[in-house]
Amino acid sequence: MSSRTARRFAPLLALLLLAVRGSALPVESEQTVFQSSAYTGSSLPVPGPTKSFWTHGTADANPLAAEGSEGALTSEADVCIIGSGISGTSVAYHLSNLVKAARVDVSTPVSAVILEARDFCSGATGRNGGHLTPYSFVYFNGNLKLWGEDEAIRAVEIERYVFSEIGNLVDKHGWAEKVDFVPSGRVTMAYTQDLYDQIRLDYESAVAAGVDVSADEWLTKEETKERYGAAYPAARHPGSNVWPLKLVTEFYHLAKQASPAYNLTLHTRTPVTSFNVASQGSSRKWALETPRGSIECSYVVHATNAYTKHLLPQFEIIPTRGQIIAVRANASVEELTNSALVLKHQYWFPRPVSDPSEAPLVIIGGGRQEVGSPEEYYTTDDSVTNPKLGKHLRDFLPSVFPEKFAAGREPEMEWTGIMGYTPTDDPYVGPIQDTESIKFDGQYVVAGFSGHGMPRAFGAAEVIARMVGAELDGSGEWEVPAWFPRHYLTTA
Ligand SMILES: Cc1cc2nc3c(=O)[nH]c(=O)nc-3n(C[C@H](O)[C@H](O)[C@H](O)COP(=O)(O)OP(=O)(O)OC[C@H]3O[C@@H](n4cnc5c(N)ncnc54)[C@H](O)[C@@H]3O)c2cc1C
Repeated sequence: MSSRTARRFAPLLALLLLAVRGSALPVESEQTVFQSSAYTGSSLPVPGPTKSFWTHGTADANPLAAEGSEGALTSEADVCIIGSGISGTSVAYHLSNLVKAARVDVSTPVSAVILEARDFCSGATGRNGGHLTPYSFVYFNGNLKLWGEDEAIRAVEIERYVFSEIGNLVDKHGWAEKVDFVPSGRVTMAYTQDLYDQIRLDYESAVAAGVDVSADEWLTKEETKERYGAAYPAARHPGSNVWPLKLVTEFYHLAKQASPAYNLTLHTRTPVTSFNVASQGSSRKWALETPRGSIECSYVVHATNAYTKHLLPQFEIIPTRGQIIAVRANASVEELTNSALVLKHQYWFPRPVSDPSEAPLVIIGGGRQEVGSPEEYYTTDDSVTNPKLGKHLRDFLPSVFPEKFAAGREPEMEWTGIMGYTPTDDPYVGPIQDTESIKFDGQYVVAGFSGHGMPRAFGAAEVIARMVGAELDGSGEWEVPAWFPRHYLTTA
């Protein structure tokens, strides 16, 4: 099924997806059957968002927070990227690589600008759970049924590719400490026989399709109890904990310094409120309107995730709020281990500490499926938290690990963030298709990561950069990398 066909039948597909993937799935990426037709628009990012550990946990957490928010607005650029999360900043980074490698053959410097509505990287990327974990075989069987074997394999490959590429950058530039990159893996505990059977089926389908699962490990309930303190059978996958905002800040710096032939500017606190065809006689195609004035662009990339519908109502991306707390453990990292863990719909990991005997801050999120909170869907309001969900998150760890977490302990920070869910849980990547009223020549989208963007957005952004690069060098020819799932493409 092509992705456009699939999306036309989105509500039906969502039901099918629920049937083939099951409902008891770990982490934020659970499948929800959205009434997407009932939801017509999305707001701009709201003012005064809650403060996350990643954006405000230390005084120097977000040095680019207000970058380019004052003074003159850039008046024109070759490429305008809307959104400064991992998607938008990664597009800027990959474009810089193309220019540096002279694969974009231009005689004058390529100019790119990132326009961000609030502070730098203050959307989902600056407010998430901090797990950079490829789904090595999780969901494999569902993807196999929906998209066929080649696509199911590519859905694994993109995540492994991203994890490996980001790991290589971390090693090459010595960022590990700076961005808290701790590749300690993640353990998914199967708390029901159904979930165990489902993960096992995913695993066996992946093995049958030739996916290399040698880095994954199965644990008996006794082994999980011994290592992590809860008696459930579990699967352990490679993955990393990370400070997402700091990682993305480094991507920005690399892009900014990449080449004299690449001129990158960032304007934070500059929401794009609408777009129009550029003025007559302009060499550019589009004009983006902001409260600070307008900016003319040859190419536009929408990296706006949960907020995409505000400018592009034709995309089925539903904003969904997630909540996180940062709470001090009552045990050392030695006792907790530095592994990320998933149990039921909660996911958590301890922050790195300088002394392993110290009690770490633990970042834990999720839980809305267990609390049953419909108010988390169809909302872009991350300026508030939900007390019901907050109580659930506070109670969860002490109830499962009473010897490691103190009941009644208040979190040091608590925040919300907005995810963008699509009917298939997969993002939209590529040129925006024309509608009856608008010809979207030169506009691209990379959005809709459905609560699981860290191991996918960097790869999707590379594909967008290749597409835009091919326009800039006049060849118009781009190749989709072997590891990229074709069903993510808007052109499929
Ligand atoms: C609570 C929570 C927990 C999560 N946990 C994880 C996890 O542990 N692991 C994982 O892989 N994924 C997780 N996710 C999902 C992950 O964070 C996202 O998939 C990913 O960050 C998406 O990146 P993005 O750049 O596409 O979107 P965002 O980071 O949301 O960036 C989009 C940016 O666009 C800006 N913007 C929007 N509209 C406009 C406009 N009109 N003009 C200017 N700027 C605009 C926004 O302000 C925002 O900064 C979580 C998400 C949340 C909310």
